Amino acid sequence: MSAVDVTITEVGLRDGLQNTKNFMPTAAKNAWIGAEAAAGVHRIEVCSFVPAKLIPQFVDAGEVLAYANTVSGLTPAVLVPNLKGCERALAAGARRIVAPISVSEAHSMNNVRKTTAQAIDDFARMAGLVKSQANGGRAQLIGACSTAFGCSIQGAVAEEDVVRVALALREAGADAISLADTVGYANPAQVKRLFDKVCSAIGGNFHIEAHFHNTRGLGLANALAAYEAGVRNFDSTLGGLGGCPFAPGASGNVVTEDLVFMFESMGVNTGIDIDKLIEVRKTVFAALPDAELYGHISRAGLPKGFMPGPRRA
Ligand code: ZN
Repeated sequence: MSAVDVTITEVGLRDGLQNTKNFMPTAAKNAWIGAEAAAGVHRIEVCSFVPAKLIPQFVDAGEVLAYANTVSGLTPAVLVPNLKGCERALAAGARRIVAPISVSEAHSMNNVRKTTAQAIDDFARMAGLVKSQANGGRAQLIGACSTAFGCSIQGAVAEEDVVRVALALREAGADAISLADTVGYANPAQVKRLFDKVCSAIGGNFHIEAHFHNTRGLGLANALAAYEAGVRNFDSTLGGLGGCPFAPGASGNVVTEDLVFMFESMGVNTGIDIDKLIEVRKTVFAALPDAELYGHISRAGLPKGFMPGPRRA
């Protein structure tokens, strides 16, 4: 098997499910994880270690992570909102931990009742905790700059603030940085400019990842702009599952199937089998019949004579 050119992380079980009304049974979550891993998705964000009273969907976070840790070839990721969540995630065996820090002060106060500076201090404590683990088995900690492209409370977010927060997270001990368009405000010119700025401030060898929502239809265009800026790690959700709590009725993240199709049709290897991926939609739909699933390639089918990336090369 050829090495992948881009890594796609499925975040539907976290970003998608935190925005759906109904609880997805644990067995269905596990079936989704197993099936998508079998389709070649080797990184899946499986849950969030938030208090269950805030988001009941994640009451089974420990069980789901325990299952995901048994799936061969899979690196499960988890989201943590704070130090307490990070402690819980590590105790449950997390190997990849994503901690979002809002660049927008207004979003940070609204979400975690901390200023951005206080949230960065909290992140530094998480990094200390993660690094106190034995080195061979220590988890990776990803600092996710949320609202990096705009905020539904504050409005515009200054690019220099994003660069400053990204550098602070790196300084505090992040293994990688992600720039997240939390509310779907980004456009491709802005994406290229901001990733260029952050990459040159942080240094080319450091891992920088992208998280886009398709709220206003620019998700794939933004992913392509980030790819052209050198980004090789992308988040997306199967069927675009999810939504935007600030824009009722709006669509969710970039659709995994469409993102894989875009890259593979360009000759960029994702390591993911599109037909198998489309099959996984049935598992999700059966467990969440009221959820809206989006996506073009699952409806239109692959073009006649389509060849995935590695066979094209
Ligand atoms: Zn998101």
